Amino acid sequence: MIKSVYIHIPFCNQICTYCDFPKMVYQDKWIHSYLEALNQEIKMNYQNESFKTIYIGGGTPSALSINEFKHMLNIVDQFKKEKDYEYTIECNIESLTEEKIKYMKMYGVNRISIGVQTFQEKNLELLNRHHQKDQVFSMVKLLKQYGLTNINIDLIYALPNETIDDVISDIEAFLKLEIPHISTYSLIIEPNTTLYIQKIQPIQEDLDEKMYRTICNMLKKNGYHHYEISNFSKPGYESKHNLTYWNNEEYYGFGLGASGYKHPIRYNNTKSLTNYCKGHFRLEQEVITPQIQMENEMILGLRKRQGVSRSHFIKKYGVPIESVFPIERLIQQKQLKMQGDFIFIPEDKIYISNDILVEFILEKTHS
Ligand code: SF4
Repeated sequence: MIKSVYIHIPFCNQICTYCDFPKMVYQDKWIHSYLEALNQEIKMNYQNESFKTIYIGGGTPSALSINEFKHMLNIVDQFKKEKDYEYTIECNIESLTEEKIKYMKMYGVNRISIGVQTFQEKNLELLNRHHQKDQVFSMVKLLKQYGLTNINIDLIYALPNETIDDVISDIEAFLKLEIPHISTYSLIIEPNTTLYIQKIQPIQEDLDEKMYRTICNMLKKNGYHHYEISNFSKPGYESKHNLTYWNNEEYYGFGLGASGYKHPIRYNNTKSLTNYCKGHFRLEQEVITPQIQMENEMILGLRKRQGVSRSHFIKKYGVPIESVFPIERLIQQKQLKMQGDFIFIPEDKIYISNDILVEFILEKTHS
């Protein structure tokens, strides 16, 4: 039974120079048809399940005008929710307003994710982000006044010309916001982004690693639990929605470019707005064999600091993890650790976790 749903709103007020998500500049002429198509996609697929997590991401959902925003909330309101549901909306500082906050409260939204990225003026400009530090502080204060205290903020580090001191000053400012969740990402310069076209070079890998370790240490010292490679939370504030992905559970993905997983199918929607609005939603789908399902269980599950439960694996797949993957060798090489029921990547190896996760791709048996 599917317990989670992701809804994609692909419109943004301006395009960030590092962004390679499915998105486009907000134009009001598109919004109505897009929301109608979204509603149609939902009606065709939703089977009246009760969700434990709803996540509206983008793009920038808060970029919609107040009436469009209400229209979107109304569409999402057709979903049934479990009692202790988590309902998140991604927002950005410039387009979030008190009126939108009131509507979110009214429709039961209880978690807000804000893309702040950095407080450094030199780099905000380079990223084409235009908020100011005091705007972020007043918006977080306002959200809390409305009882929306479950807030995530995204931080990007490894920015061009960034120093360790810049990262420290960003983290210090983030800590002052007193929010329960922080997601951190190292800047990746993806092809077809403005930064790539401008030939901006990534920072040196050893500096990147030093920054990552600085962030982990500072957040840990301040009571944040490092529960996934890039995510930190105060106890009890882990993102339930993202845990759906890392636990390799099923979820619907609705909207332009959204991905979903309804076993045994993983699918991706079209990234063409015209096709989407014409009702051609699906772009591609893949049948997940038991083999791939087990690989995903490990590759996604080992992103969590807690790791993968051996008893859960046997229950789900009928075989022990050790009989499928080279667990013993990886433990001997100190790339994995086993403690009680759990297998996980040890703290000192998290930075190189991608190198460890490739060990779980069993290519030979796919053909
Ligand atoms: S706001 Fe988010 S989705 Fe929009 S361009 Fe920036 S990073 Fe991309």
